[in-house]
Parts: sequence; structure tokens; C-alpha cells
Amino acid sequence: MNSPEINVKKESLNSVNQLDFLFKPKSIAVIGASSKELSIGNVIIKNLVHYGYTGKIYPINPKEPEIRGIKAYASIFDVPDNIDLAHVIIPSKFVPQIIEDCGKKGIKSVIINSAGFSEMGEEGIALQKAFLAKAKEYGVRIFGPNCQGIINTDPAYKAYCDFTFTFPEPGAISIVALSGGVGAFIMQSLFDLEIGMRMYASNGNACDISISDVLNYYGEDEGTKAIILYTEGFKDPREFMETAKIVSRKKPILAMKAGRTEAGAKAAASHTGSLAGVDIATELIFEKTGILAFNNEEEMCQAAMAFAAQPIPKGNRVGIITNTGGPAVIATDELVSAGLVLPALSERAINILKETMLPEASLGNPIDVVATGGGNHFRSALDVMMDEDTIDSVFINFVTAPFTDTDEVAKNIVEVNKMKRKPIVCNFMTNLSMERFQKTAKILKDGGVPCYSFPTTAAKALGALCKYHKLRSRNIGEAKKFTGIDKTKSSEIINDAKDSGKFLSSDKVYSLLSAYGIPVADWRIASDIEKTITGANEIGFPVVIKADAESLVHKSDLGGVAVNLKNADEVRAVVEKMKKNFDAEDLKFFVQKFLPGGKELIAGVSAQRDLEPLIMFGLGGIYVEVLKDVVFKIAPVTELEAKEMLSSIKASKLLDGVRGEKGIHKESVIEIIQRLSQLVTDFPEIKEVDMNPIMAFHDKAFVVDARIRM
Ligand code: ADP
Ligand code: MG
Repeated sequence: MNSPEINVKKESLNSVNQLDFLFKPKSIAVIGASSKELSIGNVIIKNLVHYGYTGKIYPINPKEPEIRGIKAYASIFDVPDNIDLAHVIIPSKFVPQIIEDCGKKGIKSVIINSAGFSEMGEEGIALQKAFLAKAKEYGVRIFGPNCQGIINTDPAYKAYCDFTFTFPEPGAISIVALSGGVGAFIMQSLFDLEIGMRMYASNGNACDISISDVLNYYGEDEGTKAIILYTEGFKDPREFMETAKIVSRKKPILAMKAGRTEAGAKAAASHTGSLAGVDIATELIFEKTGILAFNNEEEMCQAAMAFAAQPIPKGNRVGIITNTGGPAVIATDELVSAGLVLPALSERAINILKETMLPEASLGNPIDVVATGGGNHFRSALDVMMDEDTIDSVFINFVTAPFTDTDEVAKNIVEVNKMKRKPIVCNFMTNLSMERFQKTAKILKDGGVPCYSFPTTAAKALGALCKYHKLRSRNIGEAKKFTGIDKTKSSEIINDAKDSGKFLSSDKVYSLLSAYGIPVADWRIASDIEKTITGANEIGFPVVIKADAESLVHKSDLGGVAVNLKNADEVRAVVEKMKKNFDAEDLKFFVQKFLPGGKELIAGVSAQRDLEPLIMFGLGGIYVEVLKDVVFKIAPVTELEAKEMLSSIKASKLLDGVRGEKGIHKESVIEIIQRLSQLVTDFPEIKEVDMNPIMAFHDKAFVVDARIRM
């Protein structure tokens, strides 16, 4: 068991080292360099020079002696030096040959800016395959094609290997984006917010170096404090999940909930499939791997500002310091809805504040130092918050009251901030067209205090810091492996029906569930009236009879379910009626114990391409499509995740029982979910499971209707 793990580590280490040639090149060749001002082959050289690239630039052009004043070479073979990285900006049909040349020259990584590959149909796909084969042969790593490139702001490199137009200051946030358009505008947003950037990568078609490779690289990069990720899907969701899980423990990954995965795009006809919708898998991948997901790109960039400058809080308890009332109220609302709490201050704290604050000040949480409060008052309030064991982070509302020395306030905030004891965010309300307040703002900015101009924005940013703490400390554990499962029987059933694309017959469904220890209501299956009655006698009245045939999907809609049958006569009457109503050749009668009075729940599975199946749980019964109160997780589902599923449906309180009625036996349902997860993990041939309803009682739970499609 040990050796594969060691292998994985080695490989990822290798790929990190290899990516050094991409992100930290000492020399760059621009193949397809051009003297035309408005061409990519010109802009890339211009950008490298303008940004102050510290290495050597080799323009490659068969006709020009120099480009932008730099000596050009007719071919890479004419370059007298080693080359770490090459930009390729030539027509796609020449690319396979050029990659071979790069390999021969010993170039370790290539950014292919040119388009005309897998995004262009058959011919492009063939070209991509051809150059990839050459790349593999010579051990060249490919970034792109059809991409922007990378940027490394590290003063030791200043590698601007990109044709974009934003020139960021060095900082601690690294960006990886599949889409160059989104990547560039996120970079610009950080620039506008005056947040520095560490590295940037936009890999277009991503035929070799993947988003996961870059994430892994950023994870190992000491200068990267937080990562912004934008992707519209995953080429290899499993690889991504593995990487993201590891990296997100080390540093926050902020991502947009945009686009949909290939995997999630299958809208199946059954409950589970259609309820899953098409874009759910991306969200679930983020959740399972501890990525902070944002609905809004502006919010994400604002949060990045806090991540760049502040430590991660140790909990969700916030202290508020304000010098004005209203904005603190708005901030409180937002903080509370982001899951933060405002603990009361200790007696010790209040006693200190009684000494230090103005008489009008309000001594609680929030501490209102009032508008006339100055540097000393803010300082004392901050010290108190920093000393309180019950407080994990501090939110400041600072309005630049013209009658106070605002610079003095800012300096005090900065002094405390520099100690890095607890994260601070500041809602800074001012008029930045006034020189006086510009100075105050600069003190805060230079002192690393993230400042926002709306209380809600500031509160959301602090909320994101706390959410990351929660995500990082959430340990979902490993999925349980239940023992005592009848593997022989299960394999038999599955192998019989494998690849059929069909639904399993009822007897197989219930046998399979039982083999996996999933409790089902006692049942018999019979082909005629007498056997049906015998079955009912064996189970014991009252019973339920269900018409059973492959063509019958939603049985009760068609009058195929008769409940609460108390004796043989009632069974006989129902069977006769069903025989008349359904002329299916394979019609049988499914007899089941009648289990009244339970809560109807649903659990299901829908298989995903390139990803583990999705497990669903929610309120069941015949209204499931209407209420759609269901949640999903990616298999394998751990005990903690199964518990979270129960508590995260909208009607979760119903499971606890309302108005004096008893709640359900949650442990049984949690176990059913985990066993179901194990079943579909063991047998990927299963495409869909739909258990609706599961009848849940105060002491147990049983599946009373289930369908399984292979
Ligand atoms: P279908 O979903 O194909 O219409 P079900 O077997 O789910 O058929 O039955 C429909 C409804 O009948 C269930 O939602 C439940 O309310 C009720 N029902 C079915 N079987 C039982 C049972 N064994 N005990 C109690 N109620 C049942
Ligand atoms: Mg049903």
C-alpha cells in the first residue's frame, strides 16, 4: 500500500521542479517574434522588456536581424545559449515540427499561444496529438495551446510571458484561470484594488500542464499566500480533487462557482439525475475539497484582499469597534449571516474600557468609541479585543470624523495590525478626494490593513476568512467500509445485468440492497393470485400490493400501488383489478409489509462521467419533484457528510419532529446513505439508484420502493 503513495509524491515533486522552467525561466525564446507593433509576437517581447524581465530574451525570426532592439535569431539552433522557455506564436500546422526542434535544443517548457488545435475540430485535434507526441518524446512540458501564458512578479524574475496589459505589483495572491478573459479581468480587479499579485497562469486548451499542476505548484510556492481559481469544468475531475484537497489545507483557494462540468452535464431521466441538474458537480467538488466558492467575482477579489494581508482566524467569534452607529448595525447583520457571532466582553475588558473610553462611549460588543474618539481610544479598544480569549477577529468601522486626528487613529490601527495577533478588516468611510484623508488611507494601506468602502463588503471579506478556517478544520474523515456484506450474491446480481442499460427487476433490487445491509420492508414476489395471498400471509397483514413490470415506472400514478390491505379478500380483489388494468406480459405482484406513519425520505445515486457518482438525500414521497428539497455529495460519503446531508435539507427540522411528534431515527438513515455510497463505489456499473421512499420511524428506517439502473 505504501509504494503508490510514495510514487505520487515523487511525481508531483518532479512536476513542481519542471514547472520552474515555466514560472522561473532564466532565458526565453519567442518563436514567431515579429516587428509588427500590433502582433502577439511583438507584444510579448514588449511586455517582457517593459516589466523588467531579469533573464535573456531571444526573438526567433528567419528574416529580421533584430526585434524591438534585441538581436533576433533565424532559428533556435542559432541561439548560442540554453533556453528554459519558448513562446510559440506560429501557425498551428508548423507547431509539431517546432516542438521537436525545441526538444532537440533542450528547451524544457513551451507556451503555445497559437490557436488552431483541439478547439478547431478534427484537423486541430490531429495537430495537437502530433505535437504532444513530440513533447513527450523529448520531455518538453506544454502550456496551452490557445492560451495567454504566465506571469511571475517575483523581482528575481519579473517574467511577463503574456500578451495582456495589466502590470501588477508583486504580492501574495496567485491566479490560475482556464479562461484568459476571466483571468485577465480578475488580475485587473486585484490591480484596481491595489492588491499585489504573485503569479498568474492561463492555460487555454490545457493539453499538458493542467489546472491541477499549476495549483500544485502554487501550493508549494512560498510566496503564494492565497490562490484564485477560475475554471469552467475539469478535464480530469479526479486529479483535480486530489490536488485541491491537499493544496486547500495549506492555503486558501478562492474560486468562482461558474460553469458546469462535463461530469455534471448529464441530465438523467430519473429523480436523482434530473434533481441533480447540470451544474451541481462543480460546487460539490469545491465543497468536498475545501475550496471557498464565490457567486460573485467582485466579492471574491475583495475577499482576496483580506487573505493577502491577514492571518486566518481561529474561530467565528468577532469583536466590532466602531466610531459611528449605523454602519456597525449593517456590518453586524452581514457578519451574523456569514456565520459569525459577537460574544459579550468580559468584566475585565469592560473595567479597562471604563478607564480609557470617553464617557459617551458604549462598552460592549460592538465597542462604540464615538466619533470624537481618537487614536488612544481606538488603541485601547483594539488592545482589549486582542486580549479577549473569546474573540477571534476584529471588525473596525472607521469614519474619518473631521474633528479628530484621523492619521493618529490609522497609526494605532496599524500598530496593532502589525502584531498579527488576530485578523482585522476595516470599513473605512471617507472622502478620498481630500488630501488629508488620502494620507490616512495610505497609512492604513501601507500598514497592511484591508480597507473597504462598504460595511457589507468588509463583513463579507471577514466572513470568507472565517469560512476558510471552518473548511480547513472540517475533517470529513474516511468513508466507512461496512463488513458482513454478501459480496458473492451482489456480484452475481450485478454481473447478470451488467451493461444492460436496464432497470433491475424488483427481486434483484431488494436482494442487492439486503446484501448491502440496507433494511428493506419484508417482501415477496408472486405471479398469480394464490401465491400473492400466500406471500401476504407469510409477511402478515396489513400488506401493500404493487404491480410489478419492467414498463411500470411511477406505479402509484397508474393505480399500481394498493396500501393497507387487511386480509386475503382485499388482496384478491386488488390483484384481479391490477390484472385487468395492466396487460404487461411480465406482470407480477409485489407484496410488501405495510409500514404506515413513517416520514418519507429519498436517497439516490446518479453516476457521473469522469467523477465518482453523486449521492442524493432529501424529503421523499410523491412530491419530491415539487419540493426538490434534496442535497448531494460526491461518493464515497463519509459519516460526517451523511450527517451533514440530513442537517442541510431545508426541512431538516422535520426530521427532529415538530409539534410534539417524535423525530426519526437519524442514525439508521445516516447508515443507509453510507451503505448506498459503498454499494455504488464497489459497483461503478450502477448508473442510477432511486430509493423513494425510505420510510423513517423513531427507532428504525426501511426502504419501501427502489429502482436500480445499470
Ligand atoms: P411509485 O413511486 O412507483 O409510485 P411507491 O412504491 O413509492 O410507488 O408507492 C407510492 C407511495 O405509496 C409511497 O410514496 C408511500 O406513500 C406509499 N407506500 C408504498 N409502499 C408502502 C409501504 N410498504 N408501507 C406504507 N406506505 C407505502
Ligand atoms: Mg416511489
